[in-house]
Amino acid sequence: MHGKLYFKRIEMADGKEHKSALNVMEGIEQPSQINEEAIRKLKSRKHKPLSVGDFVKGIREGNRTILSKAITLIESSLHTHQDKAQEIIAECLKSSRQSAVGSQQTAVRGPQSNGSIRIGITGVPGVGKSTFIEALGRYLTAHGHRLAVLAIDPSSSRSKGSILGDKTRMEELANDPNAFIRPSPSAGSLGGVARKTRETIILCEAAGFDVILVETVGVGQSETAVHSMVDFFLLLLLAGAGDELQGIKRGIIEMADAIFINKADGDNIAKANLAKAEYFNALHLFPPPESGWIPIVETCSAQTREGIPHVWETICDFCTFTSAKGFFIRRRMEQNLQVLFDAIDESIKSSFYSRKDIAHQLKKMETDVIAGKISPYSAAKELLEKYFSGK
Ligand code: GDP
Repeated sequence: MHGKLYFKRIEMADGKEHKSALNVMEGIEQPSQINEEAIRKLKSRKHKPLSVGDFVKGIREGNRTILSKAITLIESSLHTHQDKAQEIIAECLKSSRQSAVGSQQTAVRGPQSNGSIRIGITGVPGVGKSTFIEALGRYLTAHGHRLAVLAIDPSSSRSKGSILGDKTRMEELANDPNAFIRPSPSAGSLGGVARKTRETIILCEAAGFDVILVETVGVGQSETAVHSMVDFFLLLLLAGAGDELQGIKRGIIEMADAIFINKADGDNIAKANLAKAEYFNALHLFPPPESGWIPIVETCSAQTREGIPHVWETICDFCTFTSAKGFFIRRRMEQNLQVLFDAIDESIKSSFYSRKDIAHQLKKMETDVIAGKISPYSAAKELLEKYFSGK
């Protein structure tokens, strides 16, 4: 019901009374259109932080908002966030461990089984990584897979832009309900960023993403870090970019399970085929990898999407091959051991630096070391003795 319009008699300057319709007289008080109780509930929900149980449940249900929030906790430097993140990861690992054991019993583990596949993708800027990930990603989601794309980009804290941060990249994939794209954590050392990415992989797998792509720029140390957290390592290269083996480090070529020469389209096809032959010969100079898998060299075009299905076939072949030999699981176990050691290192460090008395003494020691009053080794020894004695 609305307030009623009344004519009001208004006394004007001439002393006469005039009728005016410009006034709304007080009508009947309106009932509120808003459900106050619902607002109260919403507000309390907004301010109530999610519990570890809420996070784990949301992640297992594939709730992307909750997954993103949990990843933000992983990336946070606050101790309370870190503690909570660790609890969530531990819970999520319980479910992924069950699937790992289950798949161990199956002869073939790979994209066809219930397990996940972790793929590292590298290549110099401009080689076409994001175009390639978009093409492969769309192919995979069209074939019923759920895909998470993560990135390791330790340079991003310097350049202030993360490699997946640019919204114009992977537009199709970004709008695909079966894909989840998370930019690189923007700050921290390579070790720190790598740990966060490893933990993010665990959460994404718990959320039901069965293909995890980790992208890195093929120019530095981050390839080794990515290689240590994936099952399959794919290198993208360009044809005719001067001396074929220049620009990309020998070590990176050695790590590759597959090399794809991208941009094999138009006038570039012949050059790409030539490069394919050259890289194939170059690979033979390296000792065979531990898995026994002979790395393949192929051409593709991320733009025309020619050869993209073959990329996936190669990955499936790799999984079948390495699973049959037990290498797939063994490698994951070894990676888990690495995570164990990294976690110990990280916790000791964080516990050490967060102790107030240590921080206080460290400050003093810094001055003494700079002044040459004490050697850095003696200072470190003294501080560590204080820490481990618990006094
Ligand atoms: P990134 O820096 O490695 O992520 O490379 P981008 O995916 O941003 O690609 C760099 C440029 O190469 C863009 O202009 C793309 O359109 C182009 N590009 C990527 N893949 C192909 C391809 O397969 N063929 C051709 N002709 N161009 C491509």
